[in-house]
Amino acid sequence: MSNPLDDRKKALEEDYFRRKEREVIEKLRARMDAEKEAGDAAAAAHHCPKCDGKLVEVAFEGVQIDICDKCGGAWLDAGELEALTKKDGSGWLSRLWGSSASE
Ligand SMILES: [Zn+2]
Repeated sequence: MSNPLDDRKKALEEDYFRRKEREVIEKLRARMDAEKEAGDAAAAAHHCPKCDGKLVEVAFEGVQIDICDKCGGAWLDAGELEALTKKDGSGWLSRLWGSSASE
């Protein structure tokens, strides 16, 4: 024997859980958006200090350097320039600029 009041209660419960579910999904989505923004901020840290170009990490002569894809500027961390210059004087410089100019 089904009681119409019981059915209504059940329907309300289902509606309640459906709303709860949606709340959880929305919270998850908000958290994912926040994490995505944090990721974007981290990517922004790899932007060229000179222009708004993106720094691309490349291995040059075995040393990691950041090269801007817009102005072509090369950015080195402390020690990287020293590591490069120690390798072969100023030869790497002309080769670096020569390779980017030929593009
Ligand atoms: Zn740049």
